[in-house]
Amino acid sequence: ETVENFWKNGILDPDSNVQFGEGGAGTFSDGKLNTLVKDTFGRGKEVLSRFVEAGAPSEILYQQKPHLGTDQLVGIVQFMRHQIEEMGGEFRFRSTVTDLMIRDRKLNAVIVNAKEEIPAEICILAPGHSARDTFAMLEKHNINMEPKSFAVGVRVEHPQTMINQDLYGEPENDRLGASSYKVTHTLENGRGVYSFCMCPGGYVVNASSEEGMLAVNGMSYQARDSHNANSAIIVTVNPSDFPEEGVLGGIALQRKLERAAWEAGKGKIPVQLFKDYCTHQKSTRLGDVIPCIKGAYTLTDVRSIFPKEIGDSIEAGIHAFGKKLSGFDRPDALLEGVESRTSSPVRIVREPKKLTSNIEGIYPCGEGAGYAGGITSAAMDGIKVAEAVASVYALPVNKM
Ligand SMILES: Cc1cc2nc3c(=O)[nH]c(=O)nc-3n(C[C@H](O)[C@H](O)[C@H](O)COP(=O)(O)OP(=O)(O)OC[C@H]3O[C@@H](n4cnc5c(N)ncnc54)[C@H](O)[C@@H]3O)c2cc1C
Repeated sequence: ETVENFWKNGILDPDSNVQFGEGGAGTFSDGKLNTLVKDTFGRGKEVLSRFVEAGAPSEILYQQKPHLGTDQLVGIVQFMRHQIEEMGGEFRFRSTVTDLMIRDRKLNAVIVNAKEEIPAEICILAPGHSARDTFAMLEKHNINMEPKSFAVGVRVEHPQTMINQDLYGEPENDRLGASSYKVTHTLENGRGVYSFCMCPGGYVVNASSEEGMLAVNGMSYQARDSHNANSAIIVTVNPSDFPEEGVLGGIALQRKLERAAWEAGKGKIPVQLFKDYCTHQKSTRLGDVIPCIKGAYTLTDVRSIFPKEIGDSIEAGIHAFGKKLSGFDRPDALLEGVESRTSSPVRIVREPKKLTSNIEGIYPCGEGAGYAGGITSAAMDGIKVAEAVASVYALPVNKM
């Protein structure tokens, strides 16, 4: 409800948005379930089986690129909550962990909403990649973290029929559905530019989580039936791009870009035609590509958001992709900014076997801690951490 309200009226709830709230970033995601992580221990298979148990179609168990869509995910996440509650788990909405009590390098308690103290020996810390307040709190406690490379850029929109035409040889194919692509290119300046989180028949969404800052992402419904294909076109940035800012330097860079994006669109998603992006001109009218966007948008200058090298790299990348996929660099392709939450800008260091941080009892986990890059890999990491916790704390079977 809060997410729909934000997309309709622009009223942001910093605790309940595309990044935060029930199901985390996964709930309003696109629901692509494929992962590049090898399934050596069967955790990936287990994740998919749990999705089916919670209402996902059983095809996801054998499809090469399983996909759920936002509309299915919302119900699946609620079902999983009920399952956990039936097993004795408790969910507390509107409850932010604001601090940790640490004694003799061991976790003692977690503090919720800056007032309630919950005694705890174990905390599985899986706050997602946008938990900037949490990262700052961890730094204050000298919990080992390191900056890591991530990527920033824009969302690009093209007509889905154009992508289908290139890949299928026809604008539509009922059996194959909306087609998807993946494009990569290494630039002369050594940076990689690539497409990420491609959403066939999808929507670009306002995925902001902080006031005065704007970030975009992409999603689709299960039917993948909007008239556009979108993907993030992103350029790698590494700690040398933000050396002066320490461990949280990547977050400072994200915030700078998101503030610039908010300014460019005065709070609405900034949109620019590719031809205007190339000539550094504000867009004033759309061409044949009509946006599929959740949230208010405005035509403006997207390129002004980026430092020169990143802005130039995006342009060079899109020209290079035009040689691989016909029409990718068409003058009226739409660029929307800023895509800044592609992965976590930090890693919370964990001991490789015990999986704890330098503070006993704290188990960094999932994408925000730097150990996953998507829904399935984050869930697989969750299982891995649960196994590590169980190996230390589980009661022997005869005592249960
Ligand atoms: C629009 C969009 C589309 C995406 N599409 C895909 C896709 O198609 N496929 C894919 O694999 N991935 C996709 N992703 C990425 C995917 O959603 C994430 O990789 C995944 O959700 C990471 O899981 P996680 O559990 O590590 O973190 P999250 O899902 O981010 O969950 C973190 C949770 O921690 C909570 N939290 C944070 N800080 C605190 C605190 N201090 N106290 C209490 N709670 C806190 C948050 O509210 C949230 O519920 C998409 C993301 C977005 C935003």
